[in-house]
Amino acid sequence: APHKKHPRQRKIAVLTSGGDSAGMNAAVRAVVREGIARGCQAYIIREGWEGLVRGNAVDPTPAASRRASTAPSPAIRPTWNSQLTGLPDLNLDAVEEPHAVNYWDPNDIAPLSDAPLSFGYGGLLRDGAGEGDADELAAALAGHIPAVPEEEEEGGRTLKGRYIVRVGWDDVRGWLGEGGTLIGSSRCPSFRTREGRLRAARNLITFGIDCLAVCGGDGSLTGADMLRAEWPSLIAELHGNNHIDDEQLEAYRYLNIVGLVGSIDNDMSMTDLTIGAVTALHRICEAVDSISSTASSHSRAFVIEVMGRHCGWLALMAGVATGADYIFIPERPPAGDDWESEMCDVLKQHRLVGKRKSIVIVAEGAIDKNLQPIKGDYVKQVLVDRLGLDTRVTTLGHTQRGGSPAAYDRILPTLQGVKAVEALLEATPETPSYMIGIAENRITKVPLLEAVAQTQAVADAIAAKDFPKAMGYRDSEFKDMLAAFHISSSLSSADIVPEDQRLRVGIIHVGAPAGGMNAATRQAVRYCHSRGHVPLGIYNGFDGLLEDNVSELSWLRVDNWTTRGGSELGTNRTLPSIDMGQIAAALQRHSIDALLLVGGFEAFNSVLMLEKARKDYPSLHIPMIHLPATLSNNVPLTDFSLGSDTSLNALVQACDAIKQSASASRNRVFIVETQGGMSGYIAVLGALAVGAVLVYTPEEGISLSRLQEDVEFLKERYGLDEKGKSEGRLVIKSEKSSSVYSTDLITKVLKEEGKDIFDSRSAALGHTLQGGTPSPQDRTRAARLALLSMQFLEKHATPNAQAYHPRKKQMPARTETAAMIAIRGSKIVYATMDEVMRHTDMKLRRGTDVWWSGVKHLVEVMGGRAGVIAQM
Ligand code: ATP
Repeated sequence: APHKKHPRQRKIAVLTSGGDSAGMNAAVRAVVREGIARGCQAYIIREGWEGLVRGNAVDPTPAASRRASTAPSPAIRPTWNSQLTGLPDLNLDAVEEPHAVNYWDPNDIAPLSDAPLSFGYGGLLRDGAGEGDADELAAALAGHIPAVPEEEEEGGRTLKGRYIVRVGWDDVRGWLGEGGTLIGSSRCPSFRTREGRLRAARNLITFGIDCLAVCGGDGSLTGADMLRAEWPSLIAELHGNNHIDDEQLEAYRYLNIVGLVGSIDNDMSMTDLTIGAVTALHRICEAVDSISSTASSHSRAFVIEVMGRHCGWLALMAGVATGADYIFIPERPPAGDDWESEMCDVLKQHRLVGKRKSIVIVAEGAIDKNLQPIKGDYVKQVLVDRLGLDTRVTTLGHTQRGGSPAAYDRILPTLQGVKAVEALLEATPETPSYMIGIAENRITKVPLLEAVAQTQAVADAIAAKDFPKAMGYRDSEFKDMLAAFHISSSLSSADIVPEDQRLRVGIIHVGAPAGGMNAATRQAVRYCHSRGHVPLGIYNGFDGLLEDNVSELSWLRVDNWTTRGGSELGTNRTLPSIDMGQIAAALQRHSIDALLLVGGFEAFNSVLMLEKARKDYPSLHIPMIHLPATLSNNVPLTDFSLGSDTSLNALVQACDAIKQSASASRNRVFIVETQGGMSGYIAVLGALAVGAVLVYTPEEGISLSRLQEDVEFLKERYGLDEKGKSEGRLVIKSEKSSSVYSTDLITKVLKEEGKDIFDSRSAALGHTLQGGTPSPQDRTRAARLALLSMQFLEKHATPNAQAYHPRKKQMPARTETAAMIAIRGSKIVYATMDEVMRHTDMKLRRGTDVWWSGVKHLVEVMGGRAGVIAQM
């Protein structure tokens, strides 16, 4: 692409608005760092739209001069050029941004302007109370807003009431692990008025900001779209009033806006997940898991209210992940008129088979089919009156918002923040404003207006009682999950197939244990029960099969398995090649008509072998499917395997603790060693999630020159830290990244080279990475994939496949009946063994192509290494 010279350095501002959500800080950090990396100046706007409307009490002359002492020597100033970013340089004339500078004095956080937020309405509104009507507001605004006091002196270091603040690379240090939003958020009624937006526009121009990233819910993003749509008329008015001059009018003709969806409800259309939803789900599952044990002890029922006004995502996912008995969500109200009886029937049946606890999850916006709200207290009353259950209501409330972000809510906002900056810099007057989303596993860019409109359409459809339409807007995952929930929580005989179509389905775990294996098994067992098939648990892998360690799994037996880590069936690395003839005989002996294998690379290898051996053994002519489960995520073809999310979360927790310790001693580099076989997935994604400065993977290996560069980088980096304010830094190393440069060796090298600048230590996470309790995502993913796996087996199986009939001709099973269920981008596919093999490196036991291959570079950009090394 030809180098296009921009007339001035771009200035990117970021704000967070509406209800806070975990991961907003990660989004801000990514926008700031990627912005700086691409040669822009970065700004934060505090307190959401409110801060933009208010602007600063003083003229925005660069505060940078205040900290000139920390400016690095010219030698290590990175030039963020096209070579590095792949984008044309935008600031050929501009001063480069040094990458270790604080512009923002943290003392500046507390003493905001004394005036209450939300003019005329007091600070009350910060909690999201009603925002009053627009006319009233306009009147209040006209009277209350002072003119921007441009000439006011900058009084000393601490400026009161600076809402728009330039930030440097190090201002956003350590933000990945912080919950909520550090730059503040609010509800801003004045932004709903044209007067408010006019002031916002004026402030943007005063600061020279032409790119704005907004992280918030649908309301905040509607506001963003409004601002962009009105922009031409706003600047015309400002020009007319002589608030901006001709030059400014020309220079700020276009405003580029991008939306990032921060919302715990996951209520935005056109994106699978919003920033913060996964963390909220973590909090809910933790709560429900704890409640479950007390419920069981006292044989109680609990009604748990979770957030979600127009979206039942949290309630549904929590229902699937915790194995709840019943859920209520807005987009799919109970079908019948008498939902009370329906619910009681289900819970009663569960009690009759021996369950000691009952869990009902109610979304905040749950309704019946006549739009009457369904509330926790009423549900409780019904359970007490009709079933005589000792019932309690727990409203989880704000605990759902809080806390340290889950791994996913660090990775997603980082990837999205980077994409947001890209969208801003690529925007032209013709392009619409975009919202950054995610579809299955790809970061997407969709027209903001369309996403907001579609979100509104869901609410409208619900209001119009058109529930199928509301469901129609939900993605396929949502629909699969709903089906999985109903199947796993139902004891009804409605879907049972005639006797001659019933199957005996073997379920086996192969390889190392991984989070979600048990949840998958539970779903498969429940599926069998709902259809009248017989689920057979094969204990201790293929060894167990040889010893006839096979027995039927009852509905109740698997009840608590969603939350259990490890492998309840028992698992090991034995492959069927240990004795193929005996394996085939055992399958025949137990009359197994179909086989579900849950596990990692060994499970894949097993299916491969079994399929090959079909030519020799008729009993192997049964459908078999591999459901990938391994923390390494090294199974070819699939984007994710069960267990990898649990493992990432275990890594994040461990690294947060390690980083704290490393920071306490001010200048310590920790080399953290991870498992993962020959795949660097856990290391790379983990490094992105914890903000490691370096990552070593088996894919890339380690060389002497690379190690030398890294030492130089660390020296430069520690050299830039303010005296006495250095922090701990993390290096993540995959255990198999080099057989020569061991963790121990690297630690010693760093110690030796760091001298009195930095020190080093190491920690090996080992088996802790298998994680205790599986993460909610692994549990829900397990349920969905197990459901689809069972449907696959059912489709291809023949009942009584192993029975011997003298006249029966052996029907050879087609190759596509031995498959792997894989998540591929936006699709779930059933891949044949041939297809999987085409993507497999058998020697290195991993796929030949992975979706995350570009992420390693991103770790280096976000850690600042890419810039420094590019200079050398
Ligand atoms: P949450 O998911 O927590 O509800 P949200 O972004 O939807 O987040 P809202 O309170 O709806 O939260 O909106 C936040 C702010 O966005 C409002 O206080 C207001 O300043 C601005 N905003 C919302 N809707 C509009 C609109 N239609 N026009 C202009 N600004 C708006």
